[in-house]
Amino acid sequence: MKVTEHIKNRTSPLFSIEILPPLKGKSIQSIFDAIDPLLDFKPSFIDVTYHREEYVYKKREGGFLEKVSIRKRPGTVGICAAIINKYKIDVVPHIICGGFTREETENALIDLHFLGIDNVLALRGDAIKSEGTFVPEPGGHHYAQDLVKQVVRMNKGHYMEEDLVEVAPTSFCIGVAGYPEKHFEAPNLIFDLKNLKRKVEEGAEYIVTQMFFDTRKFIEFVNECRKMDINVPIIPGLKILTTKKQSTILPKLFNIDIPQDLLEQVDKCSTDAQVKDVGIEWCINQSKELIKFGVPCLHFYTMGQSDTIRRVASKVF
Ligand code: FAD
Repeated sequence: MKVTEHIKNRTSPLFSIEILPPLKGKSIQSIFDAIDPLLDFKPSFIDVTYHREEYVYKKREGGFLEKVSIRKRPGTVGICAAIINKYKIDVVPHIICGGFTREETENALIDLHFLGIDNVLALRGDAIKSEGTFVPEPGGHHYAQDLVKQVVRMNKGHYMEEDLVEVAPTSFCIGVAGYPEKHFEAPNLIFDLKNLKRKVEEGAEYIVTQMFFDTRKFIEFVNECRKMDINVPIIPGLKILTTKKQSTILPKLFNIDIPQDLLEQVDKCSTDAQVKDVGIEWCINQSKELIKFGVPCLHFYTMGQSDTIRRVASKVF
């Protein structure tokens, strides 16, 4: 079922999660171990992230350096299939522009369509570390809005080969990313919101946000979106702070603020177990405020932390 249908049919706020494929070589059991403790809360859908290749230099005989492509977390499509097969829960595979030509994107979408997957989250992806700024693949997409456009065309039965006859259209519900504290490359929030609006105008049907710890920022973001006539459902993405280190790493990684009040509480903790308790309490309060505000769904970034999400969800759902 499509995410938008889940939202439309809901009688109370939905619960959903995002998981990361395991590191290459690891077992899929870690995925099941992340999902199993959360089944009691009946996740409406599970997002599975996509991770593109990175390049590393390996020293070879004679001192030569060889540039080698590695993918740390392959398996997005296989994991989606395994989740459908094992749990009969809807999945949302993430698809990205980076590293894909339009043809490769089309083929990936055909695979997802044949698997009976109804949803995709369309993203640009980040720059690979060695490049610094995002560079699209020759013949690939520069922005998520272009990727949305391609999925919409396939939903209308337009494939890249013009001569195809009696084509079967796909039927993907398309989500996109939004940033309550703006995307780090955007010069200001309005610029970013104008681009978010473009994604919606191209056919995105809902927005999932970057994590945030200041609920007021999410509420202001939604209000700004509505003022700009961005009227699709906006789903807040939530992460639970579990270690002291995260209070300095998350702002750098995701371009977000940690509210002073939360920071002060974390600073008083002498162990990460105490930080986890603070993080859980903070997230319970955020969740309650968001439900009061009327969000359609709470979407949790699991990041290997299902036990903490369980503790939050049991107080909220
Ligand atoms: P876009 O919407 O294309 O925006 C990127 C930047 O370009 C923004 O600053 C925007 O304002 C600007 N922009 C957009 N259109 C234009 C235009 N026409 N002209 C000028 N500027 C423009 N990354 C992964 O690699 N895999 C994942 O699975 C993944 N999952 C994610 C899930 C969520 C919920 C979120 C919030 C992020 C996720 N990311 C993932 C990270 C994401 O790929 C990065 O944040 C990336 O830098 C931006 O992606 P986007 O889709 O928001 O890009």
